[in-house]
Amino acid sequence: MAIVHLGVLYVILHAWNHHKHKSFYIHRGVNLSKVIVHIDLKGSPPKLEYLTSLLPLLKDVGANGLLMEYEDMFPYKGDISNLSSKYCYKENELKEFIKYAWESGFEIMPLVQTFGHMEHALKLQEFKHLREIPMFPDSICPSKMESMALIKNMLQQVIQFHTSVVPLRYIHIGCDEVYHINKCAKCRSRRQKELDIYMSHLRSVTEIVKFYSPNVTVLFWDDMLRGVDSDYWSTMKIINDVEPVCWDYATRLHVSHRNLYNYHKKFNNIWIASAYKGAEGVTATLPDLYSRFMNHLEWLRFIFDYKFGGERKSYNFKGIILTGWSRYSHMEPLCELLPASIPSLVMNLLLIKHFQKETSKDIHTIPATEVFHLYVRDDFKKYFQCEYAELNEFDSHACQYRESKLYSSLEYFIYQNEDIIRKINDNKKGLHSIEYYNRIDHMNMNSVKSKIIWVNQSLQDFMAIESKVSKAMLEYHSSFVVVEYVHYKFYNEKKKLKSL
Ligand SMILES: [Zn+2]
Repeated sequence: MAIVHLGVLYVILHAWNHHKHKSFYIHRGVNLSKVIVHIDLKGSPPKLEYLTSLLPLLKDVGANGLLMEYEDMFPYKGDISNLSSKYCYKENELKEFIKYAWESGFEIMPLVQTFGHMEHALKLQEFKHLREIPMFPDSICPSKMESMALIKNMLQQVIQFHTSVVPLRYIHIGCDEVYHINKCAKCRSRRQKELDIYMSHLRSVTEIVKFYSPNVTVLFWDDMLRGVDSDYWSTMKIINDVEPVCWDYATRLHVSHRNLYNYHKKFNNIWIASAYKGAEGVTATLPDLYSRFMNHLEWLRFIFDYKFGGERKSYNFKGIILTGWSRYSHMEPLCELLPASIPSLVMNLLLIKHFQKETSKDIHTIPATEVFHLYVRDDFKKYFQCEYAELNEFDSHACQYRESKLYSSLEYFIYQNEDIIRKINDNKKGLHSIEYYNRIDHMNMNSVKSKIIWVNQSLQDFMAIESKVSKAMLEYHSSFVVVEYVHYKFYNEKKKLKSL
């Protein structure tokens, strides 16, 4: 009988504790129906078998879509076949991947640049005359018939390729960072403002998309509409089925509420975009996990219970795109590799997944490290088989997962690269003086003997890391990516060591 009473008491106490714990939460989490992972193929495209193998994990941690930024990896045909890299994906393999991803529950959203960042087309001899400014290969002139013919051809091929495999509900047309608008004689003869030309192009591109796939929603990056004054917004005509993606990759967001309000009035939905890689600098090797986590947490804090002026109901942002840049643009160096960024991607997907489910009242005040400990760490440790995991110091050696060998070899590259730079430039060692004094034959072998030994040993060690990185990369990337990556990453310090 006493045992029964104790049992009842336990149940009551447990229920009370549970209630107390739950009162900490608001059961309505942040509402983001689309969680899209950006796969940036302009540089370091992964093998399709690797991308395929990632899908179950991405799904498990809450992703439900892929934004495929093909650029030169799409197998274009006919007049525009030169847009494709000679290493582009094979048609049948890409179709197989798209089909598998769709059947696994992923929305497949292709991205085709149609205004700025068109370097992959405008660098080619046959399209050079379509540049807005002849010297710069990024922005296309929207006033030339041939420009629109090129854009139409690209969109037609990408849309028809996708719709032949799976339903196409969204397409992203880029339109960000259009550095040169209204500069050529043809554009200037239109006697329009830059913004009018921008909006008119957005409208024309949307019409092309709608011609080939009437039910598609068109997404574009929002940056060209920032700073537009209220007068313009009040007179701007609505473009049906076009939705802006407001991006910010910083650890402290600089998103304008006024801009969002204007988007809200003119567009059916607003999307947001964060970054899981490619936001730490053009030559970064590994993502900074803390910064990437902060960026996502800041966005979640921002959109939680977001209300526009005069509205009582919280606004539902349509979705989040977790961007993962491989280069800052077609002609920039490679930044973080996808397989080296999986811990960052999964960590941030787990964070989003948690806050979709339930949001703690103190979301705005609780420190990032505590958020990680409370809501992300256990699952993170499980997925990466970590003995321990800290947000500030990710120790890949404490974890066992598929990509950990590559991650560790890149960590070792960073350490060794910095060590060589530091030692060569150390005035006490005087290594940077060897090349010159050797050239003028004014050196005492006695004093440089130990330096020569260090140089030879360092070169040998550095080349051993190069070989380790190459070998580890080949599991995920084709050899053309590996060649570019290691040649560029190891080039400067190898050259310096050899010159000494
Ligand atoms: Zn022009």
